[in-house]
Amino acid sequence: MAGAAVTDERRELAAAARHFYQRGWMVGTAGNLSARASAGGFWITASGRHKGELTDKDFIRVDMDGQVLESPDLQGRPSAETSIHQAIYRAFPETGAIFHVHSVEANIAAHWGEKGRLRLPALEMIKGLGVWEENPLVDLPVFENLPHVPDISALIAERLEQERPQIPALLINLHGATVWGKDCTAALHHTELLEYIFRYMVTARMAGLGGYA
Ligand SMILES: [Zn+2]
Repeated sequence: MAGAAVTDERRELAAAARHFYQRGWMVGTAGNLSARASAGGFWITASGRHKGELTDKDFIRVDMDGQVLESPDLQGRPSAETSIHQAIYRAFPETGAIFHVHSVEANIAAHWGEKGRLRLPALEMIKGLGVWEENPLVDLPVFENLPHVPDISALIAERLEQERPQIPALLINLHGATVWGKDCTAALHHTELLEYIFRYMVTARMAGLGGYA
């Protein structure tokens, strides 16, 4: 159909969402994705949309304050977690895309976090997340899952101002990971690598490897 094709960032976001949905990381309407828009601000998934079949109408373009710039579906509202994306784009201007998924493994691994940090095992996969040292000690920042999302965003903004995470990711306790990259491809790779690490951590415990190091 002429004129129906989506040629902007939404196409990559919809493809990534389908990919995550198929892996069980974006079941139902859960999770949200965003990418900086060439037209200004960023595109983010509209609230309550099924992630296996997103179309261009399932995204809303907002500015860095979360104000709606463009809403192809007039009924649409930006994701309830838009303020978390704003905090990350603000802290790291080089970020082009942010993906937030809800995997079972991330929520199990969160139980092993202490004092707002989760130590990750020194797997080869860490290199793909930008850490090239031998046997690196990498801590993922962990945030409380407060009932009011802007309160979580405020904690994230405050902490990101003080420290840059060693890898482009953070975890919200018993909720899910938020992962970013310079573009959709990088954010997708980072999400897959981090989720691999969570799977390893859970499987290692089940195999009796204790501290899984
Ligand atoms: Zn969420």
